Amino acid sequence: MDRRSFLGAVAAAAATGLLPRSLDARTAVASTPRRVIVIGAGIIGSSVAWHLARRGCDVTILEARGPAAQASGNSFAWLNGGDGGQPHSYHLLRAYALGEHRRIAQELDWPVRWGGSLEWHDGSPSGLVEHVRRMQGRGSAIRVVNGEELRSIEPALVLSGISTLAYAEHDGALDPGKATRILYDAALRQGAKGVAPARVTGISSGSGPFRVATEDDTREADVVVVAAGVGTSVIAEMAGLRLPQQSTPGVIVTTEPMDRIVHKVLYGPDVHVHQRDDGRVVLGEKAGSPQTDEHRALLVGRPNEFPSAELTMAHATRIVDLAKQHVPALAAARVEHAGVGWRPMPADGLPVLGRARSVPGLYFAVMHSGITLAPLIGRLAATEILEGIDLEILSDFRLERIPQG
Ligand SMILES: Cc1cc2nc3c(=O)[nH]c(=O)nc-3n(C[C@H](O)[C@H](O)[C@H](O)COP(=O)(O)OP(=O)(O)OC[C@H]3O[C@@H](n4cnc5c(N)ncnc54)[C@H](O)[C@@H]3O)c2cc1C
Repeated sequence: MDRRSFLGAVAAAAATGLLPRSLDARTAVASTPRRVIVIGAGIIGSSVAWHLARRGCDVTILEARGPAAQASGNSFAWLNGGDGGQPHSYHLLRAYALGEHRRIAQELDWPVRWGGSLEWHDGSPSGLVEHVRRMQGRGSAIRVVNGEELRSIEPALVLSGISTLAYAEHDGALDPGKATRILYDAALRQGAKGVAPARVTGISSGSGPFRVATEDDTREADVVVVAAGVGTSVIAEMAGLRLPQQSTPGVIVTTEPMDRIVHKVLYGPDVHVHQRDDGRVVLGEKAGSPQTDEHRALLVGRPNEFPSAELTMAHATRIVDLAKQHVPALAAARVEHAGVGWRPMPADGLPVLGRARSVPGLYFAVMHSGITLAPLIGRLAATEILEGIDLEILSDFRLERIPQG
């Protein structure tokens, strides 16, 4: 169905009162079980599915590859409050989200490691100090630390020429692949059905329920949650909607388990490092991929793996070498895995959350920093879907800010 006929059918159904989904934002509906399809089993889709299933919904998760196969399995996974330049509403969302990780850890075996983060910049520290001031102004537990204190909080970190760092005490890091599978399994235990591989190829609706097609079959649902990460834009198009993204790749390297080296998330201008509770050190880099024709050709289709073992090792070695300059103890690191993650990122950098006004029952949840946000977003999305309300905390993140048509 093309966009015009799709929207026409929706409008006609709405005009005749035939729409079964009374999801108007101003209409509070009773919390009743309903058929929901969640597209995508990354950390966001798995979290939404868990919250909906535990509240009695009949949930089916359709996943093209497998849980955590895309961004959620290839993420640096720093849990953080963002930076001082972001809108206040986004900062607030992230601040609540950090608290939600502590809450979820009381219910699930949550693979989180707290301990704070240390961030530093090249050159003059004025930008970093300004960031700290703005974050303090928003209530964040963050402060500037310098050389001597640094040696006591993170003895393994050696920084030449840098004496000013930002220490955010409440930050942490997650094992994102494990966390996604924990949420996915929790959703299944609550009765959700997980279908993978099942790539969604079409969505249609009219006066009745949604019909969601995969390569193998078609299923009906009253509500469809699109949590397909970078694939969300294509699914929006299927429903005649625009949701452009500026997805960029990032290389993530994981070492074999090591004795404890670092205690905090280390975030430098070139490289990022943290060490999980299982001893594995996770490394990411700031630089994007080179803007050459050769690289562009390699990145078509958004691969998660490098084309050869040699290239995998070359990239991993380059990033470990960068990190060794700051954490010399990483000289003993042995690379276990290096892969490429693609950041889901709506074009203006902010999350897109909530139901599409023009397509009642179609609910979007796509964002960068999804590892930080996932536990909270799952709960809030389930509340909006089941209670039929618009939560004020999400009002700056609606699809409608993006020009349609
Ligand atoms: C290199 C890198 C570093 C990052 N660092 C951080 C960080 O430090 N902190 C932080 O909070 N966040 C970070 N992020 C962002 C975070 O990882 C993502 O925001 C988060 O994983 C998004 O989760 P998701 O479930 O929306 O998407 P995904 O994990 O990508 O899941 C989407 C799923 O949808 C499936 N899918 C797609 N299309 C279809 C279809 N048509 N039919 C069925 N299924 C489909 C995919 O197979 C996939 O499994 C980083 C991301 C990257 C790539």
